[in-house]
Amino acid sequence: MGRSRGRQINEVGEPAHPPIRLGVSSCLLGNAVRWDGGHKRDPFVTDWLGPFVEWVPVCPEVELGMPIPRATLRLSGEGDRVRMVEVASGRDHTAPMKRYAAKRVKSLRELELCGYILKRDSPSCGMTGVKVWREEATAERSGQGLYAAALMKAYPQLPVEDEGRLQDAKFRENFVERVFAYRRLHGLFARRWTHEQVLAFHTAHELQLRSHSTRAYHALTRQLAAFREVPRRAFREGYEEGFMAALAVSSTRARHAKALGHAVGQLGKRLDASSRAEVDELILQYRAGGLPLIAPITLLRHHARVLEVAPLAGQTYLEPHPMELALRNHA
Ligand code: SF4
Repeated sequence: MGRSRGRQINEVGEPAHPPIRLGVSSCLLGNAVRWDGGHKRDPFVTDWLGPFVEWVPVCPEVELGMPIPRATLRLSGEGDRVRMVEVASGRDHTAPMKRYAAKRVKSLRELELCGYILKRDSPSCGMTGVKVWREEATAERSGQGLYAAALMKAYPQLPVEDEGRLQDAKFRENFVERVFAYRRLHGLFARRWTHEQVLAFHTAHELQLRSHSTRAYHALTRQLAAFREVPRRAFREGYEEGFMAALAVSSTRARHAKALGHAVGQLGKRLDASSRAEVDELILQYRAGGLPLIAPITLLRHHARVLEVAPLAGQTYLEPHPMELALRNHA
């Protein structure tokens, strides 16, 4: 299957931001590839995220050569061994699916995906908690689809979610944030990079990292300080791993409030007393749950621009993903 472009959104027919390439379980785009000849079109995927990304749809079962419609499959467990079998006949597809998956995920490398959305519960695509049947009437939600397992093993830092978890606003924002951060990270290391460039990248992400984990931010800062003590490749891999792991830590209102406080600190004495009181009040109201994050962020963006505070204006935290996605607009 080929790539599929999200719809364009502005009046001149251009996307507001360059498209980002995401892998997706094909049925989530509305392609009728499921075992019963149907699809599982997901409006978040197609209508909401679609305008900002270029999709790479993959249906592992169809690409493996299975027909539409086809026999239903499930994971069957015997001891430590998990197999993919047809429910009615017991026919075993484990080995061919594993061979296909290893080859297919390798072929994705050149597409430089920035994330992947998988169909939940599928014995091929399920990311986590897929039913593993141990006896005819009992199943435990301990499995992972065979294709999903190969994908996540090959690309351990790649942001991956399933469409079920993406119904939750907090997983949704975290996933999209990681997708855009992953692209910036790979943009940094895709060319010949210098310590100064990594330092500038790290500095620009300070508040964003702090909004997830201050500890992880400081750990990455120490890695940067020890740059000359480790081989370049080991440094890059360690920084990439630490950076993506930090962003995977859930943000909370308390963590955001702290990051916002650091932002106010960057404005320093240039912010007059009444403006500062206004920002502080918005941060307090946000922390108490009365305002969406976008409220204090918008005011801070304004002050950073008007007062020409470049270090704050350059913080990715102020716009980690397109504003049009409205991910920070919920109270
Ligand atoms: S869940 Fe995966 S294998 Fe099943 S129809 Fe969707 S894309 Fe194909």
